[in-house]
Amino acid sequence: SGVERDSGIRAIDAHTVHRITSGQVVIDLQSAVKELVENSLDAGSTAIEVRFQNYGLKSIEVIDNGSGIAPRDYEGIALKHYTSKLSSFEDVSRIVTFGFRGEALSSLCALSDGLTIATATASEAPMGTVLEIDGNGRLKSQKAKVARQRGTTVTVTNLFRPLPVRRKELERNIKREYQKALTILHAYALVPCSKENKGVRLTVTNQIENGRKVAQLKTDGTLSLRASAIALWGTRALDNVTDLDLSFEVETEKSVLRRLNQGSADSPTTSVRVQGLVSKFVIGAGRTTNDRQYFFVNGRPFNAGKASIVQKAVNEVYRTFNVNQAPFVIADFVLPTHACDINVSPDKRTIFLHSENNFVLALKVGYASDLVDLFNVFFSSIT
Ligand code: ADP
Ligand code: MG
Repeated sequence: SGVERDSGIRAIDAHTVHRITSGQVVIDLQSAVKELVENSLDAGSTAIEVRFQNYGLKSIEVIDNGSGIAPRDYEGIALKHYTSKLSSFEDVSRIVTFGFRGEALSSLCALSDGLTIATATASEAPMGTVLEIDGNGRLKSQKAKVARQRGTTVTVTNLFRPLPVRRKELERNIKREYQKALTILHAYALVPCSKENKGVRLTVTNQIENGRKVAQLKTDGTLSLRASAIALWGTRALDNVTDLDLSFEVETEKSVLRRLNQGSADSPTTSVRVQGLVSKFVIGAGRTTNDRQYFFVNGRPFNAGKASIVQKAVNEVYRTFNVNQAPFVIADFVLPTHACDINVSPDKRTIFLHSENNFVLALKVGYASDLVDLFNVFFSSIT
């Protein structure tokens, strides 16, 4: 007769609900770092420094030179669903900022020992304010008139301490989790370059137990996508890499049917442009792993580290030319914001593409013909 319960159905108390839902926004070290860097980019920063202490176990600090936070926003800064970026649901389909759910700071509070935020707006600099936020996202203390250039520093201490199981997991796998965090930082180091060359200077360091500080990554925001890639992986990584520039049209399933049934030629399509870098295939000289593949939709990294159907499609096409290898690829899909849905999961890492099957098909055809061109160039140059 099923499990017997003594007290029936009850509402979960607000504090517990908050902790449960927060765990879906910030699922691991990588997503904690991602949310902080996204906030810095949304604030218009041109220089961002990420400081890990003990691989992020002790603290994660993100320092930016963005807009800063105005005093009137201090109280609400880390309250759930408080955001300066979105005010109506209609806006979701036109989102251009990384954040819009107003959940990251509040989640980070619930999943750590709390946040420290130092911030100054242009009119306040070189003086700023230090805010202490508690686990419920409430402003605990506020210290004015501390030296601070324009921008914001957010420090998260002891990530996941309120979730003992996840904290243990993090400790056990810290080296791997740290690498994942670096991978997402690579993606964000490459993002703004694809947007009119408005690069961001990204510096990443890790301070380990004995106090030694290790520089992990440094890009120069004034450089091109190619130069940023060299800053991340060295000159050799760009051997045989060429510019990627594809355009294709995606028809909706409905309009395909309409065209087939009625022969009407006015089926609306979505124009997609793909820009970035891609390796030519050189026999014997490609990569055997697909770890240098970064995909973006309108400058937003998606599914970094997990194979998306777009990534699978690219690798599938490449394999028909070069069986055992995978291309180096950085690809930004530029398309109308209404043609994709970025509000799929709380961690915002999954993006729905409308007419996904047709999208993938058109991409495959476009990429294959690009490869055929490269193939011909390759053979005409050796004959
Ligand atoms: P969201 O990014 O979805 O708006 P967050 O919880 O990540 O939600 O951030 C809440 C708000 O705090 C943002 O809307 C923004 O106004 C402010 N904020 C957070 N980080 C920064 C930052 N680095 N610089 C300026 N403002 C920030
Ligand atoms: Mg955010």
